[in-house]
Amino acid sequence: MNVSKERLNNFSAGPAVLPLSVLEAVRENLFNYQGTGIGIMEMSHRSAPFEEIIQTAEKDLRELLGMDDSYAVLFTTGGATNQNSMVPMNLLGKGQTADYLVTGYWAERAMKEATKFGTIHVAGTSKDREYSYIPTEIKLSQAPAYVHFTSNNTIYGTQFSAEPEVGRNVLVCDASSDLLCRWIEIEKYGLVYAGAQKNLGTAGVTIVMMKRDLLSRTPANLPVLMDYNTYVKDGSMFNTPPTFSIYVSALVFKWIKQEGGLKVIEERNRKKAAILYQAIDSSEFFRGTAEKSSRSLMNITFRLPSEELEKRFIKEAESAGFSGLKGHRNVGGMRASIYNAFPAEGVTELTQFMKDFERRAG
Ligand code: PMP
Repeated sequence: MNVSKERLNNFSAGPAVLPLSVLEAVRENLFNYQGTGIGIMEMSHRSAPFEEIIQTAEKDLRELLGMDDSYAVLFTTGGATNQNSMVPMNLLGKGQTADYLVTGYWAERAMKEATKFGTIHVAGTSKDREYSYIPTEIKLSQAPAYVHFTSNNTIYGTQFSAEPEVGRNVLVCDASSDLLCRWIEIEKYGLVYAGAQKNLGTAGVTIVMMKRDLLSRTPANLPVLMDYNTYVKDGSMFNTPPTFSIYVSALVFKWIKQEGGLKVIEERNRKKAAILYQAIDSSEFFRGTAEKSSRSLMNITFRLPSEELEKRFIKEAESAGFSGLKGHRNVGGMRASIYNAFPAEGVTELTQFMKDFERRAG
């Protein structure tokens, strides 16, 4: 069976493409996990093999990010959306203000959710130009409980090239669509969260990494699963965790390590993105939607001269084996999501298709 011929070039924004070796390991262990006689999805979360899986996942994630024990690693559920609630519920004390950088749809959703729990200050926004850039002007409130930003704006194709400057304030990050795409200095962050379905694995688990000293901020009497302490006290097993999804993440972390770690992955991602941006910039026909200095390595958004041509492009791309290129329903246009596991050859193939389309339709 030729796997590469059987599979499309999958540009889905999430759930997204996984490394082939991860899929093969999943297939192998679905019926009989490492000779235990029990399939990976059928195994108790209290069993010794699963204990090993979750512990190894945490160990490998710590190793990839160079993260010491002053951080806790939590495996939660509810997606990034649930973190939009948990962050203010745990970290925003009575009478305090939290600062939000509003750089896109998901950032806006996080900010709106937080208004339910306290006072919110918008410390920076790029709404004036349809979220096409990362604002450099940031005005923090006097003593924010934390400063929240979204490192990569999945829909608009923009990404912070460096963390916002927040001094000694606690930096909180929704890194759902770019965690593990590059090396970050984790010490700069108070709390980072990410849903797994892009670079980290498959939908189901949501990873939270947080400075342990923030745990004391949680007020009494939060619903048990909304309290970060619950996950820390019980090794993310107060209740049944999403075992299969954690297993896939564990495989993905191993894969990144085997590939050479985050610096190697970052280098690769930069090259892949450059191929596609170069194709866009060298053409009069395609137009990138994000400002150059704010461009994302993960989600590359572009437009064609008319919506009619865009419809035709998507249709013809589908027939040629390029899936998931349609932009988010809120913004239209095109979006090529090229997460870690997306192969460089697929990016080059897309640029060839684009050139060919331009010749025929331009
Ligand atoms: N934040 C970002 C940056 C995202 O890309 C997404 C999903 N695409 C979300 C939040 C929402 O995540 P979830 O569906 O896991 O709640």
